[in-house]
Amino acid sequence: MSDLFSKAKNIYNLLKTVDFNQLEALSKKVDLPKVMNQFSKLDERQLNGLMKMMNGNAKKRELPPINGDFYELSDSLSPEDRALQLKVRNFMETEVKPIVNRYWNRAEFPFELIPKLAELNICGLTYEGYGCANRSFLMEGIIATEMGRIDASIATFFGVQSGLAMGSIYICGSEAQKLKWLPKMQKLELVGSFGLTEPEVGSAAAGGLTTTAKRTGDTWVLNGQKKWIGNATFADVNIIWARDVDDDQVKGFIVEKNNLGFSAKKIEDKMALRIVQNAVITMKDCVVSEENRLQNCNSFKDTAKVLQMTRAGVAWMAVGCARGAYESALKYTRERVQFGKPIASFQLIQNHLVEMLSNLTAMQTLVFQLSKLQDEGKLTDEHASLAKVFCTMRMRDVVSRAREVMGGNGILLEHDVARFVADAEAIYSYEGTKEINSLIVGRAITGFSAFV
Ligand SMILES: Cc1cc2nc3c(=O)[nH]c(=O)nc-3n(C[C@H](O)[C@H](O)[C@H](O)COP(=O)(O)OP(=O)(O)OC[C@H]3O[C@@H](n4cnc5c(N)ncnc54)[C@H](O)[C@@H]3O)c2cc1C
Repeated sequence: MSDLFSKAKNIYNLLKTVDFNQLEALSKKVDLPKVMNQFSKLDERQLNGLMKMMNGNAKKRELPPINGDFYELSDSLSPEDRALQLKVRNFMETEVKPIVNRYWNRAEFPFELIPKLAELNICGLTYEGYGCANRSFLMEGIIATEMGRIDASIATFFGVQSGLAMGSIYICGSEAQKLKWLPKMQKLELVGSFGLTEPEVGSAAAGGLTTTAKRTGDTWVLNGQKKWIGNATFADVNIIWARDVDDDQVKGFIVEKNNLGFSAKKIEDKMALRIVQNAVITMKDCVVSEENRLQNCNSFKDTAKVLQMTRAGVAWMAVGCARGAYESALKYTRERVQFGKPIASFQLIQNHLVEMLSNLTAMQTLVFQLSKLQDEGKLTDEHASLAKVFCTMRMRDVVSRAREVMGGNGILLEHDVARFVADAEAIYSYEGTKEINSLIVGRAITGFSAFV
Protein backbone atom coordinates (compact mmCIF):
# COMPACT_ATOMS: atom_id res chain seq x y z
CA MET A 1 0.00 0.00 0.00
CA SER A 2 2.76 2.47 1.01
CA ASP A 3 4.66 1.46 -2.18
CA LEU A 4 1.70 2.40 -4.29
CA PHE A 5 1.32 5.71 -2.47
CA SER A 6 5.03 6.55 -2.92
CA LYS A 7 4.88 5.67 -6.65
CA ALA A 8 1.80 7.86 -7.11
CA LYS A 9 3.57 10.70 -5.28
CA ASN A 10 6.59 10.38 -7.58
CA ILE A 11 4.39 10.42 -10.68
CA TYR A 12 2.61 13.52 -9.30
CA ASN A 13 5.97 15.23 -8.65
CA LEU A 14 7.14 14.29 -12.13
CA LEU A 15 3.98 15.70 -13.70
CA LYS A 16 4.49 18.96 -11.79
CA THR A 17 7.70 19.46 -13.72
CA VAL A 18 5.99 18.96 -17.07
CA ASP A 19 5.38 21.98 -19.30
CA PHE A 20 2.15 21.11 -21.17
CA ASN A 21 2.91 23.42 -24.11
CA GLN A 22 6.17 21.58 -24.59
CA LEU A 23 4.29 18.31 -24.15
CA GLU A 24 1.96 19.24 -26.96
CA ALA A 25 4.90 20.05 -29.21
CA LEU A 26 6.49 16.78 -28.18
CA SER A 27 3.36 14.78 -28.99
CA LYS A 28 3.78 15.82 -32.61
CA LYS A 29 7.21 14.22 -32.67
CA VAL A 30 6.84 11.07 -30.52
CA ASP A 31 4.13 8.54 -29.76
CA LEU A 32 3.22 9.89 -26.31
CA PRO A 33 0.74 7.17 -25.23
CA LYS A 34 3.48 4.64 -25.90
CA VAL A 35 5.98 6.68 -23.84
CA MET A 36 3.45 7.02 -20.97
CA ASN A 37 2.90 3.30 -21.09
CA GLN A 38 6.65 2.82 -20.65
CA PHE A 39 6.67 5.31 -17.73
CA SER A 40 4.00 3.34 -15.93
CA LYS A 41 6.24 0.28 -15.96
CA LEU A 42 9.08 2.11 -14.15
CA ASP A 43 9.72 1.23 -10.52
CA GLU A 44 10.32 3.84 -7.81
CA ARG A 45 14.12 3.85 -8.15
CA GLN A 46 13.90 4.39 -11.91
CA LEU A 47 11.36 7.19 -11.47
CA ASN A 48 13.62 8.87 -8.89
CA GLY A 49 16.53 8.65 -11.32
CA LEU A 50 14.44 10.15 -14.09
CA MET A 51 13.41 13.05 -11.86
CA LYS A 52 17.01 13.68 -10.87
CA MET A 53 17.98 13.79 -14.55
CA MET A 54 15.16 16.22 -15.40
CA ASN A 55 15.94 18.49 -12.44
CA GLY A 56 19.64 18.33 -13.27
CA ASN A 57 18.92 19.60 -16.75
CA ALA A 58 16.61 22.31 -15.45
CA LYS A 59 19.28 24.22 -13.53
CA LYS A 60 23.06 23.90 -13.49
CA ARG A 61 24.60 23.59 -10.03
CA GLU A 62 26.67 26.54 -8.91
CA LEU A 63 30.12 25.27 -7.91
CA PRO A 64 32.19 26.92 -5.17
CA PRO A 65 34.88 29.39 -6.29
CA ILE A 66 38.38 28.01 -6.87
CA ASN A 67 40.59 29.57 -4.21
CA GLY A 68 43.90 28.13 -2.99
CA ASP A 69 43.93 30.56 -0.04
CA PHE A 70 41.60 28.31 1.98
CA TYR A 71 42.23 29.97 5.35
CA GLU A 72 41.82 33.41 3.76
CA LEU A 73 45.24 34.60 4.87
CA SER A 74 45.17 37.39 2.31
CA ASP A 75 42.28 38.94 4.25
CA SER A 76 44.79 39.97 6.91
CA LEU A 77 46.63 42.22 4.44
CA SER A 78 46.19 45.99 4.58
CA PRO A 79 44.10 47.45 1.74
CA GLU A 80 47.32 48.86 0.25
CA ASP A 81 49.03 45.45 0.30
CA ARG A 82 45.95 43.71 -1.03
CA ALA A 83 45.83 46.18 -3.93
CA LEU A 84 49.46 45.46 -4.80
CA GLN A 85 48.83 41.71 -4.57
CA LEU A 86 45.96 41.99 -7.04
CA LYS A 87 47.99 44.23 -9.34
CA VAL A 88 50.75 41.60 -9.55
CA ARG A 89 48.15 38.84 -9.98
CA ASN A 90 46.57 40.74 -12.84
CA PHE A 91 49.96 41.22 -14.50
CA MET A 92 50.78 37.53 -14.20
CA GLU A 93 47.39 36.41 -15.47
CA THR A 94 47.09 38.81 -18.38
CA GLU A 95 50.70 39.38 -19.50
CA VAL A 96 52.54 36.21 -18.51
CA LYS A 97 50.08 33.32 -18.59
CA PRO A 98 49.07 33.68 -22.26
CA ILE A 99 52.65 33.50 -23.52
CA VAL A 100 54.46 31.43 -20.96
CA ASN A 101 54.14 27.91 -22.42
CA ARG A 102 55.42 29.08 -25.78
CA TYR A 103 58.55 30.62 -24.26
CA TRP A 104 59.06 27.67 -21.90
CA ASN A 105 58.93 25.28 -24.85
CA ARG A 106 61.51 27.26 -26.77
CA ALA A 107 63.66 27.88 -23.67
CA GLU A 108 63.67 31.60 -24.48
CA PHE A 109 63.24 34.62 -22.24
CA PRO A 110 60.30 36.99 -22.95
CA PHE A 111 62.26 40.24 -22.96
CA GLU A 112 59.14 42.22 -23.82
CA LEU A 113 57.94 41.60 -20.25
CA ILE A 114 60.81 43.53 -18.64
CA PRO A 115 59.38 47.06 -19.15
CA LYS A 116 55.94 45.87 -18.03
CA LEU A 117 57.45 44.27 -14.95
CA ALA A 118 59.29 47.52 -14.27
CA GLU A 119 55.97 49.39 -14.31
CA LEU A 120 54.82 47.34 -11.33
CA ASN A 121 57.58 49.10 -9.36
CA ILE A 122 58.26 46.12 -7.10
CA CYS A 123 62.00 45.49 -7.41
CA GLY A 124 63.85 45.67 -4.10
CA LEU A 125 60.49 46.08 -2.38
CA THR A 126 61.80 45.75 1.20
CA TYR A 127 64.85 47.97 0.83
CA GLU A 128 64.91 51.51 2.15
CA GLY A 129 66.01 54.28 -0.21
CA TYR A 130 67.54 54.03 -3.71
CA GLY A 131 64.08 54.16 -5.27
CA CYS A 132 62.88 51.14 -3.29
CA ALA A 133 59.55 51.06 -1.50
CA ASN A 134 60.55 49.96 2.03
CA ARG A 135 57.57 47.60 2.26
CA SER A 136 57.29 44.48 4.42
CA PHE A 137 58.88 41.07 3.84
CA LEU A 138 55.35 39.70 4.04
CA MET A 139 54.42 41.73 0.98
CA GLU A 140 57.53 40.61 -0.82
CA GLY A 141 56.55 37.01 -0.05
CA ILE A 142 53.03 37.57 -1.32
CA ILE A 143 54.50 38.82 -4.60
CA ALA A 144 56.75 35.73 -4.91
CA THR A 145 53.66 33.55 -4.44
CA GLU A 146 51.61 35.48 -6.98
CA MET A 147 54.40 35.12 -9.52
CA GLY A 148 55.04 31.46 -8.73
CA ARG A 149 51.31 30.72 -9.02
CA ILE A 150 51.48 31.49 -12.72
CA ASP A 151 55.11 30.86 -13.63
CA ALA A 152 58.14 29.87 -11.57
CA SER A 153 60.60 31.04 -14.26
CA ILE A 154 59.43 34.64 -14.14
CA ALA A 155 59.35 34.39 -10.34
CA THR A 156 62.95 33.15 -10.45
CA PHE A 157 64.08 35.88 -12.84
CA PHE A 158 62.55 38.40 -10.46
CA GLY A 159 64.03 36.69 -7.38
CA VAL A 160 67.54 36.82 -8.87
CA GLN A 161 67.15 40.49 -9.81
CA SER A 162 65.39 41.82 -6.75
CA GLY A 163 66.70 39.44 -4.09
CA LEU A 164 70.06 37.94 -4.94
CA ALA A 165 71.64 40.65 -7.13
CA MET A 166 70.14 43.82 -5.64
CA GLY A 167 70.24 42.23 -2.17
CA SER A 168 73.99 41.60 -2.44
CA ILE A 169 74.59 45.26 -3.18
CA TYR A 170 72.07 46.41 -0.55
CA ILE A 171 73.54 44.20 2.19
CA CYS A 172 77.21 44.13 1.20
CA GLY A 173 77.74 47.32 -0.82
CA SER A 174 79.05 50.73 0.27
CA GLU A 175 76.77 53.76 0.18
CA ALA A 176 78.41 54.88 -3.09
CA GLN A 177 77.85 51.44 -4.65
CA LYS A 178 74.22 51.39 -3.57
CA LEU A 179 73.66 54.86 -5.02
CA LYS A 180 75.35 53.88 -8.27
CA TRP A 181 73.59 50.57 -8.96
CA LEU A 182 70.36 50.13 -7.02
CA PRO A 183 68.15 52.88 -8.51
CA LYS A 184 68.75 51.59 -12.06
CA MET A 185 68.29 47.97 -11.01
CA GLN A 186 65.10 48.93 -9.17
CA LYS A 187 63.71 50.22 -12.46
CA LEU A 188 65.02 47.15 -14.31
CA GLU A 189 67.14 49.42 -16.49
CA LEU A 190 69.97 47.14 -15.43
CA VAL A 191 69.49 43.41 -14.93
CA GLY A 192 71.55 41.49 -12.37
CA SER A 193 72.82 37.98 -11.77
CA PHE A 194 74.34 36.22 -8.75
CA GLY A 195 77.35 33.95 -9.29
CA LEU A 196 78.16 31.69 -6.37
CA THR A 197 77.91 28.06 -7.54
CA GLU A 198 80.77 26.57 -9.55
CA PRO A 199 80.98 23.55 -11.84
CA GLU A 200 82.76 21.55 -9.13
CA VAL A 201 81.41 23.33 -6.03
CA GLY A 202 77.70 23.49 -5.25
CA SER A 203 76.57 22.60 -1.74
CA ALA A 204 80.10 23.11 -0.43
CA ALA A 205 80.28 26.75 -1.56
CA ALA A 206 80.63 28.12 1.98
CA GLY A 207 84.16 26.83 2.41
CA GLY A 208 85.20 25.61 -0.97
CA LEU A 209 85.01 28.28 -3.69
CA THR A 210 87.77 27.79 -6.24
CA THR A 211 87.27 31.03 -8.17
CA THR A 212 90.14 33.23 -7.10
CA ALA A 213 90.61 36.97 -6.65
CA LYS A 214 94.07 38.49 -6.52
CA ARG A 215 94.55 42.13 -5.65
CA THR A 216 97.23 44.23 -7.30
CA GLY A 217 97.06 47.91 -6.36
CA ASP A 218 93.57 49.17 -7.09
CA THR A 219 92.53 46.26 -9.25
CA TRP A 220 91.58 42.65 -8.73
CA VAL A 221 92.10 39.78 -11.14
CA LEU A 222 89.42 37.06 -11.12
CA ASN A 223 89.94 33.56 -12.46
CA GLY A 224 87.54 30.64 -12.41
CA GLN A 225 84.09 29.45 -13.47
CA LYS A 226 80.55 29.74 -12.18
CA LYS A 227 77.71 27.40 -13.10
CA TRP A 228 73.92 27.75 -13.17
CA ILE A 229 73.96 31.52 -12.97
CA GLY A 230 70.44 32.77 -13.71
CA ASN A 231 70.07 35.80 -16.06
CA ALA A 232 73.82 35.76 -16.72
CA THR A 233 73.56 35.41 -20.52
CA PHE A 234 72.23 38.96 -20.71
CA ALA A 235 72.72 40.51 -17.24
CA ASP A 236 74.38 43.94 -17.09
CA VAL A 237 75.59 43.44 -13.54
CA ASN A 238 76.99 40.12 -12.28
CA ILE A 239 77.71 39.62 -8.59
CA ILE A 240 80.67 37.25 -8.45
CA TRP A 241 81.80 35.59 -5.24
CA ALA A 242 85.49 34.62 -5.18
CA ARG A 243 88.14 33.58 -2.70
CA ASP A 244 90.80 36.19 -1.98
CA VAL A 245 94.09 34.31 -2.38
CA ASP A 246 95.78 36.54 0.19
CA ASP A 247 93.45 36.11 3.21
CA ASP A 248 91.47 33.05 1.97
CA GLN A 249 88.16 34.84 2.62
CA VAL A 250 85.21 35.09 0.22
CA LYS A 251 84.71 38.51 -1.35
CA GLY A 252 82.02 39.85 -3.66
CA PHE A 253 82.58 41.70 -6.95
CA ILE A 254 80.35 43.60 -9.32
CA VAL A 255 81.41 42.43 -12.77
CA GLU A 256 79.89 44.19 -15.75
CA LYS A 257 78.93 42.23 -18.82
CA ASN A 258 81.49 43.82 -21.11
CA ASN A 259 84.32 43.35 -18.63
CA LEU A 260 87.38 41.97 -20.44
CA GLY A 261 87.99 38.33 -19.51
CA PHE A 262 84.31 37.70 -18.66
CA SER A 263 82.07 35.44 -20.74
CA ALA A 264 78.77 33.64 -20.17
CA LYS A 265 77.48 30.63 -22.11
CA LYS A 266 73.89 29.49 -21.90
CA ILE A 267 73.19 26.06 -20.37
CA GLU A 268 71.03 24.18 -22.87
CA ASP A 269 68.50 21.35 -22.58
CA LYS A 270 67.17 21.96 -19.08
CA MET A 271 64.01 20.10 -18.06
CA ALA A 272 62.97 22.80 -15.57
CA LEU A 273 62.69 26.59 -15.48
CA ARG A 274 63.38 26.62 -19.18
CA ILE A 275 62.64 30.33 -19.47
CA VAL A 276 65.39 31.23 -17.01
CA GLN A 277 68.63 31.79 -18.87
CA ASN A 278 71.20 29.94 -16.76
CA ALA A 279 74.82 30.21 -17.77
CA VAL A 280 78.30 28.95 -17.17
CA ILE A 281 80.43 32.01 -16.55
CA THR A 282 84.12 31.88 -17.34
CA MET A 283 86.53 34.46 -15.95
CA LYS A 284 89.99 34.46 -17.42
CA ASP A 285 92.23 37.16 -16.00
CA CYS A 286 89.11 39.23 -15.58
CA VAL A 287 90.19 42.61 -14.21
CA VAL A 288 87.80 44.34 -11.82
CA SER A 289 88.46 47.64 -10.05
CA GLU A 290 88.54 47.91 -6.25
CA GLU A 291 85.62 50.33 -6.73
CA ASN A 292 83.55 47.33 -7.86
CA ARG A 293 84.42 45.10 -4.91
CA LEU A 294 81.48 44.93 -2.49
CA GLN A 295 82.95 47.02 0.30
CA ASN A 296 81.03 45.49 3.18
CA CYS A 297 81.64 41.84 2.41
CA ASN A 298 84.53 40.39 4.40
CA SER A 299 83.75 36.69 4.42
CA PHE A 300 81.18 34.08 3.40
CA LYS A 301 79.16 35.09 6.49
CA ASP A 302 78.15 38.22 4.59
CA THR A 303 77.17 36.21 1.51
CA ALA A 304 75.06 34.03 3.81
CA LYS A 305 73.08 37.09 4.93
CA VAL A 306 71.88 37.52 1.35
CA LEU A 307 71.03 33.81 1.09
CA GLN A 308 69.04 33.87 4.32
CA MET A 309 66.82 36.60 2.93
CA THR A 310 66.32 34.98 -0.47
CA ARG A 311 65.75 31.45 0.90
CA ALA A 312 62.66 32.78 2.64
CA GLY A 313 61.54 34.11 -0.75
CA VAL A 314 62.03 30.68 -2.35
CA ALA A 315 59.72 29.16 0.27
CA TRP A 316 57.04 31.68 -0.74
CA MET A 317 57.62 30.92 -4.41
CA ALA A 318 57.12 27.21 -3.71
CA VAL A 319 53.75 28.10 -2.19
CA GLY A 320 52.84 29.86 -5.43
CA CYS A 321 53.93 26.93 -7.56
CA ALA A 322 51.81 24.53 -5.44
CA ARG A 323 48.86 26.89 -5.49
CA GLY A 324 48.94 27.28 -9.27
CA ALA A 325 49.02 23.50 -9.76
CA TYR A 326 46.27 22.88 -7.18
CA GLU A 327 43.94 25.47 -8.69
CA SER A 328 44.47 24.19 -12.24
CA ALA A 329 43.89 20.61 -11.10
CA LEU A 330 40.74 21.46 -9.15
CA LYS A 331 39.31 23.26 -12.18
CA TYR A 332 40.16 20.35 -14.44
CA THR A 333 38.61 17.71 -12.18
CA ARG A 334 35.34 19.63 -12.06
CA GLU A 335 35.18 19.78 -15.85
CA ARG A 336 36.49 16.36 -16.82
CA VAL A 337 33.71 13.78 -17.02
CA GLN A 338 34.30 10.02 -16.75
CA PHE A 339 31.70 7.30 -16.09
CA GLY A 340 29.07 10.00 -16.71
CA LYS A 341 30.21 12.18 -13.80
CA PRO A 342 32.77 14.92 -13.17
CA ILE A 343 35.88 13.19 -11.82
CA ALA A 344 35.84 15.71 -8.92
CA SER A 345 32.82 13.79 -7.61
CA PHE A 346 34.88 10.62 -7.08
CA GLN A 347 36.06 9.93 -3.54
CA LEU A 348 39.63 9.04 -4.50
CA ILE A 349 40.02 12.23 -6.53
CA GLN A 350 38.64 14.31 -3.66
CA ASN A 351 41.18 12.66 -1.38
CA HIS A 352 44.01 13.90 -3.63
CA LEU A 353 42.50 17.39 -3.77
CA VAL A 354 42.13 17.60 0.00
CA GLU A 355 45.69 16.38 0.56
CA MET A 356 46.91 19.03 -1.86
CA LEU A 357 44.92 21.71 -0.07
CA SER A 358 46.13 20.56 3.36
CA ASN A 359 49.74 20.81 2.24
CA LEU A 360 49.15 24.14 0.59
CA THR A 361 47.42 25.57 3.64
CA ALA A 362 50.19 24.37 5.96
CA MET A 363 52.79 25.94 3.67
CA GLN A 364 50.90 29.23 3.54
CA THR A 365 50.48 29.53 7.29
CA LEU A 366 54.17 28.70 7.75
CA VAL A 367 55.43 31.39 5.37
CA PHE A 368 53.13 34.01 6.87
CA GLN A 369 54.75 33.39 10.27
CA LEU A 370 58.20 33.26 8.63
CA SER A 371 57.74 36.73 7.21
CA LYS A 372 56.40 37.99 10.51
CA LEU A 373 59.70 36.91 12.10
CA GLN A 374 61.57 38.54 9.22
CA ASP A 375 59.64 41.80 9.59
CA GLU A 376 60.38 41.79 13.32
CA GLY A 377 64.09 41.31 12.59
CA LYS A 378 64.07 37.86 14.25
CA LEU A 379 64.69 35.64 11.21
CA THR A 380 67.58 33.17 11.59
CA ASP A 381 69.28 30.95 9.01
CA GLU A 382 67.50 27.92 10.46
CA HIS A 383 64.09 29.62 10.22
CA ALA A 384 64.66 30.29 6.53
CA SER A 385 66.13 26.83 5.90
CA LEU A 386 63.23 25.03 7.60
CA ALA A 387 60.74 26.97 5.47
CA LYS A 388 62.69 26.19 2.31
CA VAL A 389 62.86 22.48 3.13
CA PHE A 390 59.22 22.12 4.16
CA CYS A 391 57.65 24.23 1.42
CA THR A 392 59.67 22.77 -1.44
CA MET A 393 59.02 19.20 -0.25
CA ARG A 394 55.29 19.82 0.07
CA MET A 395 55.26 21.65 -3.28
CA ARG A 396 56.70 18.56 -4.95
CA ASP A 397 53.92 16.46 -3.46
CA VAL A 398 51.19 18.92 -4.48
CA VAL A 399 52.33 19.30 -8.09
CA SER A 400 52.72 15.56 -8.51
CA ARG A 401 49.17 14.91 -7.23
CA ALA A 402 47.90 17.70 -9.48
CA ARG A 403 49.41 15.90 -12.43
CA GLU A 404 48.04 12.58 -11.25
CA VAL A 405 44.40 13.69 -11.05
CA MET A 406 44.65 14.96 -14.62
CA GLY A 407 45.61 11.60 -16.04
CA GLY A 408 47.36 11.84 -19.41
CA ASN A 409 46.44 15.48 -19.87
CA GLY A 410 48.57 16.24 -16.82
CA ILE A 411 51.71 15.98 -18.91
CA LEU A 412 50.51 18.47 -21.53
CA LEU A 413 51.68 22.06 -21.07
CA GLU A 414 48.30 23.43 -22.17
CA HIS A 415 46.60 22.24 -18.96
CA ASP A 416 48.86 24.39 -16.76
CA VAL A 417 50.23 21.74 -14.44
CA ALA A 418 53.04 19.99 -16.36
CA ARG A 419 55.24 23.10 -16.25
CA PHE A 420 54.86 23.30 -12.45
CA VAL A 421 55.87 19.65 -12.09
CA ALA A 422 59.07 20.22 -14.06
CA ASP A 423 59.90 23.60 -12.51
CA ALA A 424 59.40 22.27 -8.98
CA GLU A 425 62.48 20.09 -9.45
CA ALA A 426 64.76 23.11 -9.86
CA ILE A 427 63.17 25.04 -6.98
CA TYR A 428 63.65 21.97 -4.80
CA SER A 429 67.40 22.02 -5.45
CA TYR A 430 68.47 25.64 -5.81
CA GLU A 431 69.33 28.01 -2.97
CA GLY A 432 70.46 25.04 -0.91
CA THR A 433 69.25 21.47 -1.38
CA LYS A 434 66.94 19.72 1.08
CA GLU A 435 69.95 17.99 2.64
CA ILE A 436 71.97 21.16 3.13
CA ASN A 437 69.05 23.12 4.58
CA SER A 438 68.21 20.15 6.84
CA LEU A 439 71.80 20.16 8.10
CA ILE A 440 71.47 23.87 8.92
CA VAL A 441 68.29 23.21 10.95
CA GLY A 442 69.75 20.03 12.46
CA ARG A 443 72.81 21.93 13.68
CA ALA A 444 70.61 24.62 15.24
CA ILE A 445 68.33 22.24 17.15
CA THR A 446 70.89 19.65 18.29
CA GLY A 447 73.91 21.81 18.84
CA PHE A 448 75.99 19.39 16.70
CA SER A 449 77.16 20.19 13.19
CA ALA A 450 76.73 17.23 10.85
CA PHE A 451 78.39 19.03 7.93
CA VAL A 452 81.28 16.97 6.62
C1 LIG B 1 67.77 26.07 -12.28
C2 LIG B 1 68.87 26.42 -11.34
C3 LIG B 1 69.17 27.74 -11.12
C4 LIG B 1 70.23 28.11 -10.31
N1 LIG B 1 70.56 29.42 -10.18
C5 LIG B 1 71.72 29.76 -9.52
C6 LIG B 1 72.17 31.10 -9.50
O1 LIG B 1 71.54 32.01 -10.07
N2 LIG B 1 73.32 31.36 -8.84
C7 LIG B 1 74.05 30.41 -8.20
O2 LIG B 1 75.09 30.73 -7.64
N3 LIG B 1 73.65 29.12 -8.20
C8 LIG B 1 72.49 28.76 -8.85
N4 LIG B 1 72.07 27.45 -8.86
C9 LIG B 1 72.87 26.43 -8.20
C10 LIG B 1 72.21 25.77 -7.00
O3 LIG B 1 72.17 26.63 -5.92
C11 LIG B 1 72.92 24.45 -6.75
O4 LIG B 1 72.51 23.56 -7.77
C12 LIG B 1 72.66 23.86 -5.38
O5 LIG B 1 73.22 24.65 -4.39
C13 LIG B 1 73.20 22.42 -5.26
O6 LIG B 1 74.49 22.31 -5.73
P1 LIG B 1 74.87 21.21 -6.82
O7 LIG B 1 73.86 21.25 -7.87
O8 LIG B 1 76.28 21.42 -7.21
O9 LIG B 1 74.70 19.83 -6.07
P2 LIG B 1 75.79 19.07 -5.18
O10 LIG B 1 76.36 19.99 -4.17
O11 LIG B 1 76.75 18.35 -6.06
O12 LIG B 1 74.88 18.01 -4.42
C14 LIG B 1 74.44 16.79 -5.03
C15 LIG B 1 73.63 16.03 -3.97
O13 LIG B 1 74.46 15.73 -2.84
C16 LIG B 1 73.85 16.21 -1.66
N5 LIG B 1 74.87 16.65 -0.69
C17 LIG B 1 75.90 17.50 -0.89
N6 LIG B 1 76.58 17.67 0.25
C18 LIG B 1 75.97 16.92 1.20
C19 LIG B 1 76.22 16.67 2.59
N7 LIG B 1 77.21 17.25 3.27
N8 LIG B 1 75.39 15.82 3.23
C20 LIG B 1 74.36 15.23 2.57
N9 LIG B 1 74.09 15.41 1.28
C21 LIG B 1 74.88 16.25 0.61
C22 LIG B 1 72.98 17.35 -2.13
O14 LIG B 1 71.96 17.65 -1.19
C23 LIG B 1 72.46 16.82 -3.45
O15 LIG B 1 71.38 15.98 -3.21
C24 LIG B 1 70.98 27.10 -9.65
C25 LIG B 1 70.63 25.75 -9.84
C26 LIG B 1 69.61 25.41 -10.68
C27 LIG B 1 69.30 23.96 -10.88
